Amino acid sequence: MSVLKLQGDVIYGPIHSRRLGRSLGINLLPTIHKLCTFDCIYCQYGSSDAGSMPEEHTGFPSLETVLQSVEKALSQQPPPNYLTFSGNGEPTLHPRFPEIVVEVRRLRDRMCPDVRLAILSNSSRIHRSEIREAVQQLDDPIMKLDAGDPATFAQINRPVPGVTFEKIIAGLAAMPRVIIQSMIVDGPLQNAEGEAHEAWLSTLAQLSPEKVQVYSTERPVAQTEVERVSKATLEELARNAEKRTGVPVRAY
Ligand code: SF4
Repeated sequence: MSVLKLQGDVIYGPIHSRRLGRSLGINLLPTIHKLCTFDCIYCQYGSSDAGSMPEEHTGFPSLETVLQSVEKALSQQPPPNYLTFSGNGEPTLHPRFPEIVVEVRRLRDRMCPDVRLAILSNSSRIHRSEIREAVQQLDDPIMKLDAGDPATFAQINRPVPGVTFEKIIAGLAAMPRVIIQSMIVDGPLQNAEGEAHEAWLSTLAQLSPEKVQVYSTERPVAQTEVERVSKATLEELARNAEKRTGVPVRAY
C-alpha cells in the first residue's frame, strides 16, 4: 500500500499547513522507520514497528545536529509562522526532548522571536512530568485525543503495551494549557457518532482545553477501511461539540 514517504532529515518543509500556516517541521525521530507509541488506523506513514519502544532504538539526531539544522534553516529563508516538532512518529520519544525544547526555544528567541513554537504530539508520554514541563514551554502544545473511552482508544490508536487511556487523560488534565487535536474517522471503527462520540465529548468537557482542532483523514492511510468524514460533517460536528462542551472547536 502506498503511504507518505518518511521525512529524510531533521528539517522538512516549510509546509503550508491548514492549522499552522507556513510551518517548518522539526523531525526528532530516526529517518529510516516510523517510531511511535501508537499505530493509528489512519496513520499516513503506514503501520508501526509493532511493540517498538524508544529504549530499543537508535538513530535519533543529536542535540547538536538538531540545533545546527534549525539555525541553518532559519538563516536561509524568510521566517515561517511556526517551527513545529512533528515528523516520523512521536516527537517526545527523543531521549533528550526536554533539553531540545529549551535550546530550540533559546535559538528562536535569538533569531526570530515572532516565530511560534508548536508540537503535534500523540499525548502518550504526557503523564511524565518532564515531558509536560517541556511541552508547556511551547506556544502551541497540540495534543492528540481521538477517543473518550479506553475501548475506542485501543481500536483507533492501537498503543504499544504500557500506554493507557487513563494515564493520557491524567497527563492532559495536569496541563495548565493545552490544545487538543482530534482525528475524526468513519467506517467500521469510528468516533464520529454514537457512544464513542459521546464519550469523546464528555472527556473534552472534563478536560476543558484552550481549543480543539478536528480534522479527518487525507488518503493514503494505514488501513483502507478508514472512511474520511466530509468537511461539511466536520463543521457540523465542531458546532455541536462547541455547544456541548463550552470549548472552542474548529474544523480543518
Ligand atoms: S500518532 Fe501519528 S505518527 Fe503515530 S501512529 Fe498515530 S498518526 Fe501515525
